[in-house]
Amino acid sequence: MDKRPIVSRETFSLAALLQEGRDRLASVVSPEEARAMVRRLLSHLWPGWEAIWLATRGEASLPPEKRSAWQAALHRLAQGEPLAYVLGEVEFGGLALKIVPGVFIPRPETEEWAFWVVRQLAASPPRTVLDVGTGSGALALFLASAFPSAEVFALDKSPLALSVAAQNARRLGLSVKWAQLTFGHESLPADWPASWDLMVSNPPYIPWSFWNETDPRVRHFEPPEALFCSDFSLYATLGEFAHKFLSERGLLVCEVFPPLGQEVASLFQKFSLSSVILHDFHGRARWIAACKGEFPTFAPASGSSSAR
Ligand code: GLN
Repeated sequence: MDKRPIVSRETFSLAALLQEGRDRLASVVSPEEARAMVRRLLSHLWPGWEAIWLATRGEASLPPEKRSAWQAALHRLAQGEPLAYVLGEVEFGGLALKIVPGVFIPRPETEEWAFWVVRQLAASPPRTVLDVGTGSGALALFLASAFPSAEVFALDKSPLALSVAAQNARRLGLSVKWAQLTFGHESLPADWPASWDLMVSNPPYIPWSFWNETDPRVRHFEPPEALFCSDFSLYATLGEFAHKFLSERGLLVCEVFPPLGQEVASLFQKFSLSSVILHDFHGRARWIAACKGEFPTFAPASGSSSAR
């Protein structure tokens, strides 16, 4: 009988794990991304592994009780599943958020404009904040933590998203009022404010015609209804709502599909909103800030000068 162990001890040495991870992910992501993902996964499964690596020159073995989790996670990543779903968590603006498949994964480009909003409004914090299409609650929770005196409200049509968002609020000890509804089709709860100092939204904005050009990891694993749209009617609804319910000093900030930022700005103009398009760290038109009256002077965003 073959007495060799089915899995040798060396198979689970840190050096072997890093190598295995990089090899398994080579067909899905770039070598740099594979390296970063594998290290992040290891940190999740075995906090402090780097120090152990240094002490043992990579020879220490992953503890046996963590091995099946390692293999299951690597299998999911090798299928192209996003790391955030595999870990069940994602960081947004310094907040550790729980995330599950079926809920949109908050992005660094959204984080960038969320920080921008906080900088712009630091001197005069909003009293009321509304997040339309909150998903995991990322923007609402970030703004609730940045503006502790604000009353923050958020809505989404997905019950799954709202349950994750509410769990995130509990975990973080932040207070946000949630409502499950389809914006533009159902009214806001009667006891919510009738005037908003800040409205934010990262709506589904990728035209369906871009389906094939979208990263397969996004289109195969994330909820399409949070990403894709057939037209810009949601922006029209946001513009109309802002026209009616934005306070005099209020600001509407929305993420946009970079090639179509100008279209959203023109749409907002129809609702008598003045707006500016701002550029992200890649230099792409990424978000629009709109208000009712004269536009305040904004500090430039990081990518603004390079983008044309
Ligand atoms: N920025 C996201 C992506 O490209 C899309 C976000 C959205 O549709 N709101 O994957």
